[in-house]
Amino acid sequence: MIKPQGIGMTSQRTRDRLVQRLRAEGIRKPAVLDAIGATPRHLFVDEALASRAYEDTALPIGLGQTISQPYIVARMTELLLEVSPGKVLEVGTGSGYQAAVLARLVDKVYSTERIEELASQARQRFRKLGYRNVRVQHSDGTWGWPQFAPFDAIIVTAGGEEIPQALLEQLAVGGRLVMPLGGRTRQTLVTVTRTPTVYERVDLEPVVFVPLIGDAG
Ligand code: SAM
Repeated sequence: MIKPQGIGMTSQRTRDRLVQRLRAEGIRKPAVLDAIGATPRHLFVDEALASRAYEDTALPIGLGQTISQPYIVARMTELLLEVSPGKVLEVGTGSGYQAAVLARLVDKVYSTERIEELASQARQRFRKLGYRNVRVQHSDGTWGWPQFAPFDAIIVTAGGEEIPQALLEQLAVGGRLVMPLGGRTRQTLVTVTRTPTVYERVDLEPVVFVPLIGDAG
């Protein structure tokens, strides 16, 4: 992976300020903070928005979609890391930023995106930036990615009304799924941890995500 570079509003110092802010907001895992500090978010948004890339806010990435707020990326990543995953499935590649953060922390990231243009842009970014452990597929992620299942962790970065059954089935025993669950405009962040006998669900804080649009959820 290339070293993140940048000047002014895209410099390492700006990234460090974001990390300090996330720490103050309650993100605790040093590995997650390090991954955020090392991931050049300004290269995952349009050049015109690069100067805002280290604000703790979601930003538009075109086609009606967004790159998630860094706090949410960090929070969901922390929740996944609690089960020490090796292989992670992401539903909703978007800009590729969340996958890039995960790529620094796990062995392999499989990411699906329903909008072909976003999937292809993200693929190009990963190639250019030297991320070799992220694989992107243009597909409806509510069906998961059966070819590479089971996954130690599954992160859904769009809000759905229910957890797609295929994702529950593709979660390894001992694994965890993190997802915003609820209506089109407001959801609750939930985790589901699979034990040998049950799926344990925990409801966390309110969140706002663009909708998960798919046949199976
Ligand atoms: N993780 C992204 C990032 O780091 O930029 C942010 C994702 S954005 C909030 C949600 C993404 O989920 C959008 O790009 C949207 O097209 C995608 N999406 C929605 N429904 C989907 C589905 N069924 N399968 C795959 N992607 C989906």
